[in-house]
Amino acid sequence: MKALFHLVGAGTDINSSFERGAALAPPLIRQALWSDRGNLACENGMEVGRDFTLEDRGDLPLGEDPEDDILIRNAVAASLTGGAIPILLGGDHAVTLPIMEAIHAHYGPVTILHIDAHPDLYEDFEGNPRSHASPFARIMEAGLAARLVQVGIRTLNRHCREQAERFGVEIVEMRHFAPDRIPHISGPVYISLDMDGLDPACAPGVSHAEPGGLTVRELLSVLDGISGEIVGADIVEFNPRFDINGVTAITAAKMIREIASRAATNRKGKS
Ligand code: MN
Ligand code: MN
Repeated sequence: MKALFHLVGAGTDINSSFERGAALAPPLIRQALWSDRGNLACENGMEVGRDFTLEDRGDLPLGEDPEDDILIRNAVAASLTGGAIPILLGGDHAVTLPIMEAIHAHYGPVTILHIDAHPDLYEDFEGNPRSHASPFARIMEAGLAARLVQVGIRTLNRHCREQAERFGVEIVEMRHFAPDRIPHISGPVYISLDMDGLDPACAPGVSHAEPGGLTVRELLSVLDGISGEIVGADIVEFNPRFDINGVTAITAAKMIREIASRAATNRKGKS
């Protein structure tokens, strides 16, 4: 059976600020995914390996230099050309820019569903325009997305509010969150999941813990509302240095299964 999904590790801290550690995430998420602790069932009844295949393509040999973007772009392009849906494991959130460059080259502008405590829209952060606090400013400037829908946001300062207005970002602020408040997304969608979008009680292993976030159940209801074709996804910003009992790794692994089963369902509906 040809793999419907490619799992690709993109562990890097090159654009992290404040804390390093996201580079250590991919092997731990993988370990949690394949661990005998749980089975490979998804909540909709699909099973990894039975209803769809997920091929683990290993970790990209990132060296924390500018060449990394090329490696990430090429890996995503190779998956898309082969007909697979890439699921990237970060790494800091800046990896989403080269991923979206490859997605755009293949599909043109798609909608991004971005789950995060932070809007990541800084013009630059501490002098770094490629900061993990800025990828969505770069993505929107370059016209790589048709729409940017952000969910879980609870750290909007004046600068980022202005940036959101400038780029026409559709934000469901966490203080107003309800699953039915998420704008309808038609057509192809890319999912970018920053683990700090979840509440720190659900996902303590992050660099920028921000209280008042999504529960795992709320995040699942957000994913459940996606009816369009899912063209790719990333799970970023898990920082194992702050994890407790592996719970953030286990949650990230569950999100791989849940995103994949939703994507497999939506693709079936299309064909
Ligand atoms: Mn964040
Ligand atoms: Mn982020």
